Amino acid sequence: MLTEEQRVRYSRQLAIPDIGVEGQILLGKSRVMVVGLGGLGSISSYYLAAAGAGSLRIVDNDTVALDNLNRQLLHSTPDLRRPKADSAAEKLRRLNPECRIEPIRALIGQDNGFDLAEGCDLIIDATDNLATRHVLNRISLARRIPLVYGGISGWNGTASTFVPGETCCFACLVRSEDLGTPKTVIPAFGPAAGVIGSIQSTEAVRILLGMRPSLANRLLKFQGNGLRFRVVHVGKDPDCTRCGPSGGE
Ligand SMILES: [Zn+2]
Repeated sequence: MLTEEQRVRYSRQLAIPDIGVEGQILLGKSRVMVVGLGGLGSISSYYLAAAGAGSLRIVDNDTVALDNLNRQLLHSTPDLRRPKADSAAEKLRRLNPECRIEPIRALIGQDNGFDLAEGCDLIIDATDNLATRHVLNRISLARRIPLVYGGISGWNGTASTFVPGETCCFACLVRSEDLGTPKTVIPAFGPAAGVIGSIQSTEAVRILLGMRPSLANRLLKFQGNGLRFRVVHVGKDPDCTRCGPSGGE
Protein backbone atom coordinates (compact mmCIF):
# COMPACT_ATOMS: atom_id res chain seq x y z
CA MET A 1 0.00 0.00 0.00
CA LEU A 2 1.07 3.56 -0.62
CA THR A 3 0.64 6.39 1.84
CA GLU A 4 -1.39 9.46 0.93
CA GLU A 5 1.83 11.43 0.53
CA GLN A 6 3.28 8.78 -1.79
CA ARG A 7 0.13 8.84 -3.90
CA VAL A 8 0.68 12.55 -4.43
CA ARG A 9 4.48 12.48 -4.79
CA TYR A 10 4.40 9.74 -7.43
CA SER A 11 1.00 10.60 -8.97
CA ARG A 12 2.41 11.44 -12.41
CA GLN A 13 4.10 8.07 -12.74
CA LEU A 14 1.30 6.14 -11.01
CA ALA A 15 -0.80 7.31 -13.94
CA ILE A 16 1.47 5.40 -16.35
CA PRO A 17 -0.18 2.01 -16.98
CA ASP A 18 3.08 0.04 -16.88
CA ILE A 19 3.95 1.49 -13.47
CA GLY A 20 0.80 2.03 -11.39
CA VAL A 21 0.60 1.23 -7.67
CA GLU A 22 2.05 -2.24 -8.15
CA GLY A 23 5.13 -0.90 -9.94
CA GLN A 24 5.58 1.86 -7.40
CA ILE A 25 5.62 -0.69 -4.60
CA LEU A 26 8.24 -2.70 -6.51
CA LEU A 27 10.38 0.42 -6.90
CA GLY A 28 10.03 1.12 -3.19
CA LYS A 29 11.46 -2.30 -2.36
CA SER A 30 14.44 -1.97 -4.70
CA ARG A 31 18.07 -1.43 -3.84
CA VAL A 32 20.39 -0.01 -6.48
CA MET A 33 24.13 0.50 -6.30
CA VAL A 34 25.34 3.54 -8.22
CA VAL A 35 29.10 3.53 -8.69
CA GLY A 36 30.50 6.93 -9.56
CA LEU A 37 28.87 10.21 -8.55
CA GLY A 38 30.12 12.34 -11.42
CA GLY A 39 28.21 13.41 -14.51
CA LEU A 40 26.38 10.12 -15.08
CA GLY A 41 25.85 9.20 -11.44
CA SER A 42 24.49 12.66 -10.62
CA ILE A 43 21.68 12.22 -13.11
CA SER A 44 20.90 8.52 -12.70
CA SER A 45 20.85 8.62 -8.89
CA TYR A 46 18.73 11.79 -8.87
CA TYR A 47 16.07 10.29 -11.11
CA LEU A 48 16.06 7.03 -9.17
CA ALA A 49 15.60 8.85 -5.86
CA ALA A 50 12.87 11.00 -7.43
CA ALA A 51 11.11 7.91 -8.81
CA GLY A 52 10.99 6.35 -5.35
CA ALA A 53 13.70 3.69 -5.45
CA GLY A 54 13.77 2.16 -1.98
CA SER A 55 17.46 2.32 -1.37
CA LEU A 56 20.48 3.76 -3.16
CA ARG A 57 23.98 2.66 -2.27
CA ILE A 58 26.11 5.43 -3.75
CA VAL A 59 29.82 4.83 -4.07
CA ASP A 60 32.58 7.32 -4.84
CA ASN A 61 36.00 7.94 -3.39
CA ASP A 62 36.56 11.36 -4.94
CA THR A 63 36.02 14.92 -3.75
CA VAL A 64 34.25 17.69 -5.66
CA ALA A 65 36.57 19.74 -7.89
CA LEU A 66 35.89 22.92 -9.84
CA ASP A 67 36.25 21.24 -13.23
CA ASN A 68 33.50 18.74 -12.29
CA LEU A 69 30.81 21.36 -12.19
CA ASN A 70 30.03 21.66 -15.91
CA ARG A 71 28.27 18.28 -15.74
CA GLN A 72 28.16 16.81 -12.22
CA LEU A 73 24.90 18.43 -11.28
CA LEU A 74 24.44 16.89 -7.83
CA HIS A 75 27.33 19.05 -6.66
CA SER A 76 27.59 22.80 -6.60
CA THR A 77 30.21 25.45 -5.87
CA PRO A 78 29.84 25.39 -2.04
CA ASP A 79 30.55 21.62 -2.19
CA LEU A 80 34.10 22.08 -3.51
CA ARG A 81 36.53 19.67 -1.78
CA ARG A 82 33.67 17.78 -0.08
CA PRO A 83 33.53 14.02 -0.60
CA LYS A 84 31.16 13.41 -3.51
CA ALA A 85 29.39 10.65 -1.59
CA ASP A 86 28.46 13.13 1.19
CA SER A 87 27.50 15.92 -1.17
CA ALA A 88 25.34 13.54 -3.24
CA ALA A 89 23.71 11.97 -0.16
CA GLU A 90 22.65 15.39 1.10
CA LYS A 91 20.98 16.35 -2.20
CA LEU A 92 19.30 12.99 -2.69
CA ARG A 93 17.89 12.99 0.85
CA ARG A 94 16.64 16.52 0.34
CA LEU A 95 14.91 15.47 -2.86
CA ASN A 96 13.23 12.40 -1.41
CA PRO A 97 13.55 11.66 2.31
CA GLU A 98 11.78 8.33 1.75
CA CYS A 99 14.65 6.97 -0.30
CA ARG A 100 17.28 5.33 1.90
CA ILE A 101 20.69 6.68 0.91
CA GLU A 102 23.80 4.72 1.81
CA PRO A 103 26.86 6.84 0.96
CA ILE A 104 30.08 4.85 0.65
CA ARG A 105 33.34 6.79 0.43
CA ALA A 106 35.45 4.10 -1.15
CA LEU A 107 37.26 3.19 -4.32
CA ILE A 108 35.49 0.09 -5.52
CA GLY A 109 37.78 -2.84 -6.29
CA GLN A 110 37.94 -6.62 -6.15
CA ASP A 111 38.59 -6.46 -2.41
CA ASN A 112 35.41 -4.63 -1.39
CA GLY A 113 33.15 -4.65 -4.46
CA PHE A 114 31.57 -8.06 -3.95
CA ASP A 115 30.51 -7.15 -0.40
CA LEU A 116 29.25 -3.74 -1.47
CA ALA A 117 27.03 -5.30 -4.12
CA GLU A 118 25.46 -7.70 -1.61
CA GLY A 119 21.69 -7.39 -1.61
CA CYS A 120 21.55 -5.03 -4.60
CA ASP A 121 19.09 -5.62 -7.44
CA LEU A 122 21.03 -3.62 -9.98
CA ILE A 123 24.37 -1.89 -10.51
CA ILE A 124 24.75 1.36 -12.41
CA ASP A 125 28.20 1.82 -13.89
CA ALA A 126 28.68 5.57 -13.82
CA THR A 127 32.46 5.40 -13.60
CA ASP A 128 35.07 6.86 -15.91
CA ASN A 129 37.75 4.23 -16.20
CA LEU A 130 38.06 0.78 -17.73
CA ALA A 131 39.68 -0.89 -14.73
CA THR A 132 36.67 -0.12 -12.50
CA ARG A 133 34.26 -1.04 -15.28
CA HIS A 134 35.85 -4.49 -15.50
CA VAL A 135 35.62 -4.91 -11.73
CA LEU A 136 31.90 -4.07 -11.87
CA ASN A 137 31.48 -6.55 -14.72
CA ARG A 138 33.06 -9.30 -12.62
CA ILE A 139 30.83 -8.46 -9.66
CA SER A 140 27.76 -8.41 -11.90
CA LEU A 141 28.59 -11.85 -13.32
CA ALA A 142 29.56 -13.43 -10.01
CA ARG A 143 26.55 -12.07 -8.12
CA ARG A 144 24.20 -12.32 -11.12
CA ILE A 145 23.18 -8.69 -10.83
CA PRO A 146 22.23 -6.73 -13.99
CA LEU A 147 24.70 -4.00 -14.90
CA VAL A 148 23.65 -0.79 -16.63
CA TYR A 149 26.66 0.71 -18.36
CA GLY A 150 27.11 4.29 -19.52
CA GLY A 151 30.03 6.35 -20.73
CA ILE A 152 30.65 9.72 -22.32
CA SER A 153 33.45 11.34 -24.24
CA GLY A 154 33.22 14.85 -25.60
CA TRP A 155 29.82 15.42 -27.23
CA ASN A 156 29.09 11.71 -27.37
CA GLY A 157 27.96 8.88 -25.16
CA THR A 158 27.22 5.16 -25.12
CA ALA A 159 25.01 2.92 -23.01
CA SER A 160 24.17 -0.76 -22.75
CA THR A 161 22.73 -3.25 -20.28
CA PHE A 162 24.35 -6.54 -19.35
CA VAL A 163 22.24 -9.29 -17.80
CA PRO A 164 24.34 -12.22 -16.50
CA GLY A 165 23.43 -15.51 -18.15
CA GLU A 166 21.31 -13.76 -20.78
CA THR A 167 23.30 -11.16 -22.66
CA CYS A 168 26.87 -10.35 -23.54
CA CYS A 169 28.94 -8.80 -20.76
CA PHE A 170 31.12 -5.69 -20.71
CA ALA A 171 34.25 -7.80 -21.36
CA CYS A 172 32.63 -9.17 -24.55
CA LEU A 173 32.79 -5.61 -25.86
CA VAL A 174 36.04 -4.48 -24.28
CA ARG A 175 38.65 -7.12 -23.54
CA SER A 176 39.55 -7.18 -19.88
CA GLU A 177 43.27 -7.09 -20.57
CA ASP A 178 42.80 -3.82 -22.45
CA LEU A 179 42.81 -1.28 -19.66
CA GLY A 180 43.53 1.61 -21.98
CA THR A 181 45.90 4.44 -21.36
CA PRO A 182 46.35 5.93 -17.90
CA LYS A 183 43.77 8.50 -16.93
CA THR A 184 44.06 11.69 -18.91
CA VAL A 185 41.67 14.61 -19.24
CA ILE A 186 38.59 13.26 -21.02
CA PRO A 187 36.65 16.02 -22.80
CA ALA A 188 33.08 16.10 -21.52
CA PHE A 189 30.05 18.03 -22.76
CA GLY A 190 27.70 18.28 -19.77
CA PRO A 191 24.40 17.48 -21.50
CA ALA A 192 25.91 14.26 -22.96
CA ALA A 193 26.17 13.02 -19.36
CA GLY A 194 22.57 14.17 -18.85
CA VAL A 195 21.35 12.16 -21.83
CA ILE A 196 23.24 8.99 -20.97
CA GLY A 197 22.51 9.26 -17.21
CA SER A 198 18.79 9.61 -18.06
CA ILE A 199 18.97 6.54 -20.29
CA GLN A 200 20.66 4.59 -17.49
CA SER A 201 17.90 5.53 -15.04
CA THR A 202 15.25 4.59 -17.62
CA GLU A 203 16.83 1.17 -18.04
CA ALA A 204 17.14 0.81 -14.27
CA VAL A 205 13.48 1.60 -13.60
CA ARG A 206 12.35 -0.79 -16.34
CA ILE A 207 14.50 -3.62 -14.94
CA LEU A 208 13.25 -2.95 -11.39
CA LEU A 209 9.68 -3.16 -12.73
CA GLY A 210 10.46 -6.58 -14.18
CA MET A 211 10.65 -5.52 -17.81
CA ARG A 212 13.27 -6.74 -20.25
CA PRO A 213 15.96 -4.06 -20.60
CA SER A 214 15.78 -2.18 -23.89
CA LEU A 215 19.55 -2.26 -24.29
CA ALA A 216 20.06 -6.01 -23.76
CA ASN A 217 22.62 -7.06 -26.40
CA ARG A 218 22.37 -3.56 -27.84
CA LEU A 219 24.76 -0.65 -27.64
CA LEU A 220 23.25 2.81 -27.86
CA LYS A 221 25.46 5.47 -29.37
CA PHE A 222 24.54 9.10 -28.84
CA GLN A 223 26.15 11.76 -30.96
CA GLY A 224 25.53 15.09 -29.28
CA ASN A 225 26.94 17.30 -32.03
CA GLY A 226 24.41 16.58 -34.76
CA LEU A 227 21.94 14.92 -32.39
CA ARG A 228 21.87 11.36 -33.63
CA PHE A 229 20.99 8.19 -31.78
CA ARG A 230 22.07 4.83 -33.15
CA VAL A 231 21.59 1.41 -31.64
CA VAL A 232 23.85 -1.40 -32.81
CA HIS A 233 23.46 -5.08 -32.04
CA VAL A 234 26.18 -6.54 -29.84
CA GLY A 235 26.47 -10.20 -28.98
CA LYS A 236 28.28 -12.57 -26.69
CA ASP A 237 31.92 -13.17 -27.58
CA PRO A 238 32.30 -16.98 -27.46
CA ASP A 239 35.92 -16.48 -26.40
CA CYS A 240 35.10 -13.96 -23.66
CA THR A 241 37.36 -14.64 -20.71
CA ARG A 242 34.62 -13.52 -18.30
CA CYS A 243 31.26 -14.88 -19.46
CA GLY A 244 32.35 -17.40 -22.14
CA PRO A 245 32.74 -21.16 -21.54
CA SER A 246 36.28 -20.60 -20.33
CA GLY A 247 35.23 -17.60 -18.21
CA GLY A 248 36.10 -17.40 -14.55
CA GLU A 249 32.54 -16.82 -13.35
ZN1 LIG B 1 31.53 -11.64 -21.84
